[in-house]
Order: sequence, then C-alpha cells, then structure tokens
Amino acid sequence: MTSLDQTVAIITGASSGIGQATARVLAEQGVRVVLAARRVERLEALQQELEAAGGQALVVKTDVTQRAQVEALIKKAHAHFGRIDHLINNAGVMLLSYMRNVHVEEWETMIDVNLKGPLFCIGAALPIMQAQGSGHIINVSSMAGRRVFTSGAVYCATKFGLHALTEGLRQELQDIRATTIAPGVVRTELLEHITDEDVAGRVEHIKALEALTSEDVARAILYALQQPAHVTVAEVLVLPTAQP
Ligand code: NDP
Repeated sequence: MTSLDQTVAIITGASSGIGQATARVLAEQGVRVVLAARRVERLEALQQELEAAGGQALVVKTDVTQRAQVEALIKKAHAHFGRIDHLINNAGVMLLSYMRNVHVEEWETMIDVNLKGPLFCIGAALPIMQAQGSGHIINVSSMAGRRVFTSGAVYCATKFGLHALTEGLRQELQDIRATTIAPGVVRTELLEHITDEDVAGRVEHIKALEALTSEDVARAILYALQQPAHVTVAEVLVLPTAQP
C-alpha cells in the first residue's frame, strides 16, 4: 500500500454521511483534507475534530452547482496546501420520484448536483493535476449507476452518467487515475430529502435493510487511493450483504 501521508484531498459533501466518514478515514492516514459543502457549521465542527486529533483540514463553503464557487474551492485548496492529489466527488442528492408525478425541479437539481457538480470540480482541478503530472479523481456513484429501479429513473440516469464520465477519464488520461465507487444502500441522510409521497413504501423497504455504514464506503475509497501509481482501481461495487 502506498502511504497517503501529507497528500491533499478535496472532499465534496463532507458535511454528512460518506463524505464526513471519508474525511475522518483519510485524516487518520495523514491526508490533508479540504472539506466542501453548503452547511459550513458542520464542516467547521469536523475541522475542529480532525485538528484536535493532529490532522490538517481546510473548510470551504461550496455549492457544487455554482461553477464560480467550485472554481474558488479548487483555487483556495491549491493556494493553501500547494497541491491537489485526490478529488473526491461525493456530494449528491437522491430525490426519488415516479416519472408520472413530474418533479421537474428535482430532476434538474439531481443533474446539477450529481453530474454538473463533479464536472465543475474536474474542470477546475484537472489543469492542476496535469501540471503536477499526477492526481486521482474518485467519483462516488452508486449501485443505481449499474441497475435502474422504478422511482429512480433520473437518479439512475445521473449515476449511469457518472460511471461513463469516470470511465472516459480513465481511458483518456495517463498520469491521472479515475475510480468509480458504487455503493449499495448506506445509512445516511440521503433518504430524508425525498418529497414524492408515492415513494414512501420504497423508502421504508430501504430503511428496513441492514445497510452499509459510511465508514464501510470510506474504507473502499481508501483502498482505491492506497494502490501504487501503476494500479487503477477502476470501480468498486460495495453492497450490504443483505441487499439483493
Ligand atoms: P448525505 O445526504 O448524508 O450527504 C450528501 C452530501 O452532499 C452532504 O454533505 C451535502 O452537504 C452534500 N450536498 C448536497 N447538495 C450539495 C450541493 N449543492 N453543494 C455541495 N454539497 C452538496 O448522503 P450520502 O453520504 O449517502 O451521499 C453521498 C454520496 O453517496 C452521494 O453522491 C450519493 O448519491 C452516494 N450514494 C449514497 C448511497 C446511500 O444509500 N446513502 C448509496 C449509493 C451512493 P450540504 O447539504 O451541507 O451541502
């Protein structure tokens, strides 16, 4: 395993769930972490926790749907730590709804956060990684990027898109690695934002499953990052044992 000590990671969606757990797991390895999300008070609490444990963290309040904010995030991270080794595109929303209920605004939000957000981050970070001659882009997709289910048509479309984007990066770029992390059900806040009442039954079904923890997924991200430079973990599909 390659040491990650003193490398620099930008983590979007670090205010809860998988992003927060990933920040903790990477900081334990000596990674200097840049924490990005909209709920800045949560990021600051995490920063304090990591710094109290001897880590280094920078907080940058960022809405990933706003290109100017994303560009400012990457610029601040680079100015503060001098390099960007890992970009972890984790911020995401899963606003499940049936197509017949036509939640057009939520469709747009999912495309903006789940697809355009990673693209804005890549667009801003890639020139820095290219100048360094190294870098690793991790896109947190989902089992929903491999398998479509009813009420998930648009969410799945964004995650299928993210798989395609990562694979395109991997094939094109030589010095910069790209990995898709595709978890099954993880116990986080992700389900809390669903508004379509017709999905309630599915949500209860998902909640009843013995899910992964955010730390389980963070360890999969760590595994991909720790491989030597000549090894690309193209995709990690990590599922709860109980998930069919
Ligand atoms: P959470 O809801 O706990 O975390 C989502 C994160 O995304 C939050 O930190 C939130 O921060 C951030 N976020 C949402 N919108 C924006 C935005 N516009 N700008 C910046 N940050 C934003 O859910 P998870 O931890 O589960 O989700 C993380 C990723 O994992 C997502 O991409 C999700 O699709 C994926 N995933 C989750 C699974 C699950 O079962 N939980 C399964 C498979 C994949 P804030 O609100 O502070 O901005």
